[in-house]
Amino acid sequence: MDFRLNDEQELLVKGIRELMARENWDAYFEECDRNSQYPERFVKELADLGIDSILLPEEHGGFDAGLVTIAAAWEELGRLGAPTYVLYQIPGFNTILREGTQEQIDKIMALHGTGKQMWNSAITEPGAGSDVGSLQTTYTRKDGKVILNGHKTFITSGAGVPYLVVMARDSENYDTFTEWFVDMTLPGIKIEKLEKLGLRMDSCCEIYFDGVELEEKDMFGKEGNGFNRVKEEFDFERFLVGCTNYATALCALEDAAKYANQRVQFGETIGRFQLTQEKFCNMAIKVKNMKNMLYETAWKFDNGEMNSGDAAMCKYYCANAAFEVVDDAMQILAGVAIAGDHRIARFWRDLRVDRVSGGSDEMQILTAGRAVLKQYR
Ligand SMILES: Cc1cc2nc3c(=O)[nH]c(=O)nc-3n(C[C@H](O)[C@H](O)[C@H](O)COP(=O)(O)OP(=O)(O)OC[C@H]3O[C@@H](n4cnc5c(N)ncnc54)[C@H](O)[C@@H]3O)c2cc1C
Repeated sequence: MDFRLNDEQELLVKGIRELMARENWDAYFEECDRNSQYPERFVKELADLGIDSILLPEEHGGFDAGLVTIAAAWEELGRLGAPTYVLYQIPGFNTILREGTQEQIDKIMALHGTGKQMWNSAITEPGAGSDVGSLQTTYTRKDGKVILNGHKTFITSGAGVPYLVVMARDSENYDTFTEWFVDMTLPGIKIEKLEKLGLRMDSCCEIYFDGVELEEKDMFGKEGNGFNRVKEEFDFERFLVGCTNYATALCALEDAAKYANQRVQFGETIGRFQLTQEKFCNMAIKVKNMKNMLYETAWKFDNGEMNSGDAAMCKYYCANAAFEVVDDAMQILAGVAIAGDHRIARFWRDLRVDRVSGGSDEMQILTAGRAVLKQYR
């Protein structure tokens, strides 16, 4: 497989490099992380560069480029320390164009290019985590309205998005799962922010829906098609999580290597100790494996061949391999990483979360394992 980028991809990567060199973004990220604040100013600059247009069709002002381009952009951003996890919503523009009504499309596309948060899916509930089919949020048709009742939890961007796509079951027909496009300013909605270990530049919320009045036009996609619709979104999100993990690990490896080459103990740079060299060997192998897996998967997606097993494998492998790389980098930076304000500490917290959010390690293993077996049936 040819890993060289084409001219457009090279140009995009060059633009990212220039943007990242323009100011001390790390200080800004550190402040956003400390205050649990969405880095909107940064995301707006990325939008100006066209990052939120990579996947959009040309008729909507996009580049219609695929996942290899996304992987290249994520790789360069993450390598330079950017929190690419705040960009998980970008494929959401395409989803809206594919699934939304004209009114829903207009509402979301008005946010394109602004750097503002737009929408996210709300599926998880206190009693329905991995077992999403046990969710209890209901919609009930009454007097020409649709009434939403329920409690969602761990909802990313819940405090920042103007719209949520909420998965609910028909109270009259319990096996019918349908999504609803919900304006978050409607009466009956209560949002409570949760504190979280990492990925702190985006909110995580409990959301209560108490008799929220919707209309038929607020249905998202087709009635009863809720789970089929989100399956594709899960695959995409899992691939993106893998890219974020890989690029963060690359950044950590580079930070640790620079440090190991200049930190002197016992009269020598610590990089000259064989125990340090072993760490770099293992870190570099993992980084290389992640890159190969992600670019191969991106290529498969762009050629219509990616399946859920590929996406699950990327998320499972990259979340774990990247966490190990960052953990080793932390060991090399030692006290500086633990007690100082080095970004490695943030990476470590962020990567730990990714082994749970977007589907736990165990769920990825089950999906990937089933996909492997299916090939030999
Ligand atoms: C930071 C963050 C952001 C999130 N954002 C969103 C969001 O935007 N929207 C949304 O809808 N959800 C979101 N989630 C929810 C997330 O998808 C769930 O947390 C995740 O699916 C796990 O659910 P749970 O935490 O309830 O764990 P549980 O499902 O209760 O699982 C507990 C443990 O049991 C294991 N387990 C469960 N079932 C099995 C099994 N069959 N076999 C083996 N092991 C099993 C799990 O792997 C896990 O280790 C987010 C979560 C986090 C932490």
